[in-house]
Amino acid sequence: MDAWRWFVVTNAFHGRYSKRVMDATALQQGDETRTRRREASPLVAEFALLLVLAYVLSFWLGLNGSAVREGVLLGALVVAGYSAVFATRRASESMRAIWRAVPIFCLLLVVGEAGRLLAGHLDVSMSSRWLVSGVFALSAYSLLILGALRALAGSSAIAWSLGLIDSAMIGLAASAPWLELAVLPRLGDNGGSALLPQLVSPVIAVAALLLIALSSRAALETEISSFVLVAAIGAVLAGDLLVCRHLLANGSMAVIHGAVLGGALLIVIAAESTGRSGRVRGRSRYGLGVARLAVVLGAFAVSLAYAGLAFQRGEQLAGFAVTSAVSVLLVLRLLVQVWERHHHSARLEEALREQEQLAVMDSLTGLYNRRFLDAELKLELDRSARSQVPVGVLLCDLDHFKQINDRYGHLVGDSVLREVARRLLNAVRNGDLVARYGGEEFVVLLPDGGKEKLREIGERCRRAFEEVPFQLPHDHEVLVTISIGGACWPEDANTPRELVGAADTALYQAKAEGRNRIHLSGHAAGAVSPLLMPAPVSNGRFEYAPEAASTSELDPPPSEVGALEAKLDSVEEVTDGVGQMERWATLVARALGLDEYAQRSCALAAHYHDIGKSAIPESILGKRGPLSTIEWEVIREHPERGAALVELAPELVSIGNIIREHHERFDGRGYPEGKMKEEISTEARIVACCDAWMAMRSDRPYAGAKSASEARAELLAGRGKQFDPEVVMAFLMFDEGDFEGAKRTLDGLSARA
Ligand code: GH3
Ligand code: MG
Ligand code: MG
Repeated sequence: MDAWRWFVVTNAFHGRYSKRVMDATALQQGDETRTRRREASPLVAEFALLLVLAYVLSFWLGLNGSAVREGVLLGALVVAGYSAVFATRRASESMRAIWRAVPIFCLLLVVGEAGRLLAGHLDVSMSSRWLVSGVFALSAYSLLILGALRALAGSSAIAWSLGLIDSAMIGLAASAPWLELAVLPRLGDNGGSALLPQLVSPVIAVAALLLIALSSRAALETEISSFVLVAAIGAVLAGDLLVCRHLLANGSMAVIHGAVLGGALLIVIAAESTGRSGRVRGRSRYGLGVARLAVVLGAFAVSLAYAGLAFQRGEQLAGFAVTSAVSVLLVLRLLVQVWERHHHSARLEEALREQEQLAVMDSLTGLYNRRFLDAELKLELDRSARSQVPVGVLLCDLDHFKQINDRYGHLVGDSVLREVARRLLNAVRNGDLVARYGGEEFVVLLPDGGKEKLREIGERCRRAFEEVPFQLPHDHEVLVTISIGGACWPEDANTPRELVGAADTALYQAKAEGRNRIHLSGHAAGAVSPLLMPAPVSNGRFEYAPEAASTSELDPPPSEVGALEAKLDSVEEVTDGVGQMERWATLVARALGLDEYAQRSCALAAHYHDIGKSAIPESILGKRGPLSTIEWEVIREHPERGAALVELAPELVSIGNIIREHHERFDGRGYPEGKMKEEISTEARIVACCDAWMAMRSDRPYAGAKSASEARAELLAGRGKQFDPEVVMAFLMFDEGDFEGAKRTLDGLSARA
């Protein structure tokens, strides 16, 4: 009742009579009220009231009832369609598709009804007249079904398929007994098959009604107007059923008009109150799924029951047709649901992958974030604790970045940060890691990063900023400089936290000394003034000039030099080990004719191949005696662990598999999977060979180093067993350590080719 009162009051008073006083009051009304008035359908209340009046008067005055009622009915349907047009604008997102269908629904009913009346004047046969109105009624309900499906399924093909299958199931359940029991036996006596569209339309109406009811439940919050709309369609459906009675058993036309008129007025009420009626809290989507399933199962049960009855009555054909149709629909529904589940799990997986990436990535710059850096730093130090390769860290902070934000705004500041990330990535080496540490602070992690390397790479980064100004919007340019603090493990710190702390202190120094410079930890006056830095060499890369360095004030005090050199010497050997393996892997890949991408993958995989060992206790890795079975199990896990680790980093995903396979053997007796021959990727076969060579040539806890010729003999003996024969031959083409010579040979070969 509320809705009705509201609707009369709003339209009668606001829409019309208040116009006289509008000038005075409109200015005081808020925007919202004004918008609402504009969107309300004007004059609807007056029309509707007039129609009701005319309808009632037609009985009192004893006029030609039928003609007046027909006129009132058509008018009411037109008014309903008219107000539904305005309702579309106010309807909630979830009901809008249905409201879009309602005006056309009304229009089709009007055309059908008017067509039937017109045909009556033209003396067309009774059944043809009903054919006209039946066809329009069918189209009207089908349109409603499409609107409801659009509301339920949106643009998802899966949801549309499910909706269509469900509608077919409901239609089948309603139509089979209806046609079989009520319609077909009496059809012949009453006008024949031309009546069929009109007689079938209630079935389609039932499907439309159920779908609209379901889609109004699907909304997060259902408006009361949705229930009114369902009631309206229900009333029109009742009118249709009465038409069927009229056609099959000569029921009265007056009741039909009454029912349809009631439906039209309910549509008007629903339309006028939509967007303004009270809301009922929506049930959960789970509840909706259950309701929908209940409807479909109900339809299924009705169809089956009907089929059972048909068989019992000896109507084999009808029973069989319904049973097969139900089975086909059920199977289709099952298939679509499997498809849906597959689709969902694929989307879930994708979302999970994105989440994993986001967990280690900075969303503004696309660099690694601090969380990843912390984990990686720990890993790198653990690894280097065994190999004694120094690890370097550069902490970079933009100079006076606040001013850029203040002057150009935060959005421009953000784009500068993205460009900073790009320049840093360009300045570092392959295998160095750049992360965003905080606001405008970045960290470069250099595995194999002694002080010399820190200076070289740090300076390269610094120059990348100093030399090229940043382009800002509106053709502005700004020079952004960067200050860098560097520290080195194990020289300046023992733990990751200390290492970053030392770099931070150095950064502070660099800032204090005037910014746009690099300061290395442990150097009293260690800032590298740009003037002391070497000029770029011809290949465009900066190389550190030893004489400049050795004579500068930047060197450690003489007392420390001896100790440092000794340390670096021991480190150099092993540094070469890792670097050597990368270069061997690259050369062998090239010699085997692999493309550049594969060569780079080989180098990267050679670099990280044992990263999985970082989780293995030193007690096992350094054990002198034979390993126990359990210890072996632990060791055998390292390729898989290593692969899982590198796959966390988007740039390293491609080498995961190489690392996973680097302990497989050519004869299939390796681990973890026992793959053989071509099942193992070529890159992994190359890394395996280089790894074995490095192992044989160095002192291990369980065996001494082999000489070069002993190692060569082992490789040859392992051809076709442990190693890929082709890889071994390519490997042995070159002398150990003579990378330049090997490169020249390959250059010569490719030149000749
Ligand atoms: P200096 O380091 O040379 O001492 O001066 P500064 O102006 O760079 O000072 P500081 O490092 O303290 O300032 C950091 C500024 O970076 C403050 C903050 O507004 C800005 N900032 C931090 N994160 C973001 C970000 O994500 N986007 C933008 N646009 N600005 C950021
Ligand atoms: Mg700063
Ligand atoms: Mg800062």
